[in-house]
Amino acid sequence: MNRRELLQGAVVSLPLISVATAQEIARKSTGLPPLTIKDVKVITTNGGSHYRWIFLKIITSEPGLYGIGSANNNYETMAVVAALEDHLKPWLIGKDPSRIEDLWQSAQMRTYWRNGPVNNNVLSAMDMALWDIKGKRANMPVYEMLGGKARDGVPVYDHQGGKTKEECLDTLQKSLANGFSHVRIQLGGYGGGGFTAQGEGNRPEGGYQGVAFDEQQYVDAIPPLFEFLRAKAGFGPKLLHDVHSHLSGMNAVELARRLQPVQMFFVEDILPPEQIAYYRNIREICTTPQAVGEVFSHPFEVVPLVQDRLIDFIRCRVAATGGITPIKKLTTLCEIYGVRTAFQEGGENDPINQIASYHVDISSSAFGIQEENHFPPIVHEMFPGMGEIRKGYLYGSDKPGLGVDLNEELAAKNPLGPIKDGGAYPTDRTIDGTVVKP
Ligand code: MG
Repeated sequence: MNRRELLQGAVVSLPLISVATAQEIARKSTGLPPLTIKDVKVITTNGGSHYRWIFLKIITSEPGLYGIGSANNNYETMAVVAALEDHLKPWLIGKDPSRIEDLWQSAQMRTYWRNGPVNNNVLSAMDMALWDIKGKRANMPVYEMLGGKARDGVPVYDHQGGKTKEECLDTLQKSLANGFSHVRIQLGGYGGGGFTAQGEGNRPEGGYQGVAFDEQQYVDAIPPLFEFLRAKAGFGPKLLHDVHSHLSGMNAVELARRLQPVQMFFVEDILPPEQIAYYRNIREICTTPQAVGEVFSHPFEVVPLVQDRLIDFIRCRVAATGGITPIKKLTTLCEIYGVRTAFQEGGENDPINQIASYHVDISSSAFGIQEENHFPPIVHEMFPGMGEIRKGYLYGSDKPGLGVDLNEELAAKNPLGPIKDGGAYPTDRTIDGTVVKP
């Protein structure tokens, strides 16, 4: 045998245990026959709208038993589709879907380089689908297998905002009237309050002419907005604000300090992930609660912030960090250190990711708040059993597994549209044309 043949032999994947042993173990533990993964389908859809959603359907050897997971990635959609179709699928078929932890670990090591966003999406889709299968087989919702309900409902925060502080007040009052206790308010979009209008101001010759972000302008604009809202609506409503990583070190510290008197429920992503060391400076100067981690993909970004108690809420996206398995471990870590969870939703996210968050939220003592997401009616038709928001709470269907199905026919009738600019996230720029971190 030459070296090439030896190497080829080494990568042949052998079953972990013999079929006879697997049957014996399954008979003793569940009374059910062993299960294998028969097929894997990658399903994409625009959700009847502008979305670029990717789902994975894992089909088992038991007739009618399958699971669905989300691999949501709006910005590198086709890279995730290829990673699922060409790399995960051939590896996954034939394996035992009941071994979630083992499959998660081995799927993580399978790519050798790990903790990157694309493989995190792949892991998430696989992991959610496997939990869906396990729950259906056990005839239990996933939250039952995570320890059962730790609360009766999952409070969600609403998204509001306006171009002026008066508009912001109107929308806040609308949310409160609709039953939300927690409301995120933006002065326009992300960075709103910090923009110089298109073409205005002193620009470099022949340079960038779009709206231009200025950190100091933003730090000056946001505290008066919340002072106005507190003066008009009182201190009862829980108020939130998302900085979307637009600030650098001391400007972030200064904004947190200036917001202290208005007693925010939390301020979100006041710093970009590259500058998380400044959370220690924020902690030293004020008590404004910090919610962090929407764009985190590596556990090393989270762990120091949690274990040093430098943040108050961790808000990773389940579909961007590897699925229910690692997120459940993260909530346990958070519980130990007194940090709460606020998993990311909203925007381009999907109903499967939303419900995966829900199952962790409702069964975790570290839960803090869940971001809401509203979907058009066609999405409710496409995902029977999907989560529903009523008077500020998110409810699942309580059906076995994740409790949500996917109408593949309707998904196929609403295919992905053309991906403009390769799906690039539209970053802001400063007046001299420098990119602002999102
Ligand atoms: Mg955010």
